[in-house]
Amino acid sequence: MKQISLRELIFYVWRSSHLYRKLWESRGFDPEKDFHKDEDLKNIPVITKKELRAIDLKNRTTASTYDGPYFLGFSSGTTGFPLSVFHNSYTKPSYYRFIEKLDAGKRTSCLILRPWHMMPVFINATLKGGYFNSEARVICGDINNLEFYARLAKENEVDYLLTSPHTAIRLAAILEKKKYSISYIKSILISGSPLSSAAIQLLKQYYGDATILYAYAIAEAPAAIGLKSSLCDALNKISPNAYHLNTEDYILEINRGASVITSLRKNPTPLIRYAIEDQIILKNNFRCSCGFPNGPICIVGPRIGEEFYKIGGYSFHIEHVKYALKKLTYLFTDDFTLQLEQAVYEKQLITIPRLFLKPRKWFVKFLNKKLIAEIITKSFYINQNGKYISFKDELQKKLLQPLEINFNSTIKGRRILPASETVKPFY
Ligand SMILES: [Zn+2]
Repeated sequence: MKQISLRELIFYVWRSSHLYRKLWESRGFDPEKDFHKDEDLKNIPVITKKELRAIDLKNRTTASTYDGPYFLGFSSGTTGFPLSVFHNSYTKPSYYRFIEKLDAGKRTSCLILRPWHMMPVFINATLKGGYFNSEARVICGDINNLEFYARLAKENEVDYLLTSPHTAIRLAAILEKKKYSISYIKSILISGSPLSSAAIQLLKQYYGDATILYAYAIAEAPAAIGLKSSLCDALNKISPNAYHLNTEDYILEINRGASVITSLRKNPTPLIRYAIEDQIILKNNFRCSCGFPNGPICIVGPRIGEEFYKIGGYSFHIEHVKYALKKLTYLFTDDFTLQLEQAVYEKQLITIPRLFLKPRKWFVKFLNKKLIAEIITKSFYINQNGKYISFKDELQKKLLQPLEINFNSTIKGRRILPASETVKPFY
């Protein structure tokens, strides 16, 4: 799956993709007439996740036999309708190669801790992409059985860890308890969840001897869109979700406030002017503390549409808050804001849900907020790895803080927002 020029990509897709041919024809775009130079990219119709999902898998795939086999990757299905695409290789962006040369990691004993549904595509695509060296041993772990995999990590002297921020932190706490020297772990690749300052701080504290790479990626795309490392203090000052932009594999545009990517790869599900559901700010010529050549960075913010937000291993949905508020409709309107903060508590990463409600009656502000939180908590559901779980039951694990209730009479509409530090560069 080699990198190709934009022109090659457009004509390859025009010839071989049923999906794009139909979409472009229906919107009056004909590459033969309308695509002459790279700047003409802006005339190509934008495709949304909804549109991509509406086409069946066969027609959104341009699989050809010469660079298979392909593995099905899909978004975790937080909306109940997972979007699946095929991948056969995750490429190593230039920032990954920069850190690989720089750090002391050998990447010979590797532990992958990602949800099971992602394992086939994750392991095959990283293997083909050259993420492990030739003599590496690779272990696929189970995120629901970290005690066991901490033991295996010890026995195998794991030096390379591929996981999400919250799983890396939970694993570190277990390793520390078992008195396993965490300093064996020299390289970590973090992906799968937005970051917070609390997560970055804890990871640095636990894995002080490791170089940590953070990837901003989406399930549909064949490489990280942005990357940064534990050396990027300058990026962290802007936002915990600021990254060096991967310009080798993507063209990222900001189109009327929405971020749109074009993947410069001949992969089985081409992404041409695909609207990402995260709001992004681009900055050029950024000088970072890590020593990577000056270049563009992307700052990732709230989601466009804000139907849900995934953080700390949980996904929170507008629909579920609406449902939980049903018993209180005589007190509150159905306008609300749920903001998801993260903090460090007893060397663990805690997600803090702050719910802002709009009272209907003046006397509501004198009501007991704790009691209101208890009523909402009883029928509040969240999603974990594609499964619905009770927020109340999950509280016992102490990775979530009880719902915090606030009143605000100026709220309009329903929103789920990431932590204030992530939202800040956007307002
Ligand atoms: Zn940097």
